[in-house]
Amino acid sequence: MNYLVNTSNSPGLIITLSSFTRVQLRMLCGPLRSGHLFAHNGIKTAVSAEQRNTFLHIMQVFSKTPLQIKALEQYIVEVDGLVRNAYAKAGVNDQERKAAERDLFWRCEIPEVLTPVVKEILTDKLRKLMEASDPGKVHNHDVSWLNLTDDKRTKQMHERLNVDVIRKIPLSAQTRLRRCPRCLSVMEDLTPQQLAAQPVWVFQNQKTCVCFNSWVVMDPPEA
Ligand SMILES: [Zn+2]
Repeated sequence: MNYLVNTSNSPGLIITLSSFTRVQLRMLCGPLRSGHLFAHNGIKTAVSAEQRNTFLHIMQVFSKTPLQIKALEQYIVEVDGLVRNAYAKAGVNDQERKAAERDLFWRCEIPEVLTPVVKEILTDKLRKLMEASDPGKVHNHDVSWLNLTDDKRTKQMHERLNVDVIRKIPLSAQTRLRRCPRCLSVMEDLTPQQLAAQPVWVFQNQKTCVCFNSWVVMDPPEA
């Protein structure tokens, strides 16, 4: 199993089995569900054509997603239960669990105690999730703009386009940038006035990169 994890170069299992990343995945589902509901209701109560079109655009994004948010959330909840039970059943204490979690990320080593969990999440649980989704669409869904993979399409896209890693929006060539020296992500170098007009979460997250490294302000683009 560990050989397969290392040779497939896919972080999926590690991210699902590690409690920290699993919690983060689960935390994403609530706001996504709320966003869908907000847009759905917003269409009915929109006070202008512009507002209605905006909500319609948001609904289109949701309708194109290949994965059902509710089904994914249920999947994560069930995996959470399986992992907890596996550790409890094997009598793994807090220190041992911390060591196992560390090895998951540092060495890509799945602890022996989680072998039955892996079997179940890749068979019964995954089958159930895929029944509510379209596996072909999941596989082919274009996520190149997220810059998570090193395939040709992703590399080419990010050679010609900067995406703000915090706000997940494309930036023009004239945008003043901050770059992370560690993971090379970029964000717009917002002025204090621009920052004041941003939502609170942007203000809170602009201090460090998504990898928690400090930003370096880039030279302004040539006019
Ligand atoms: Zn970074």
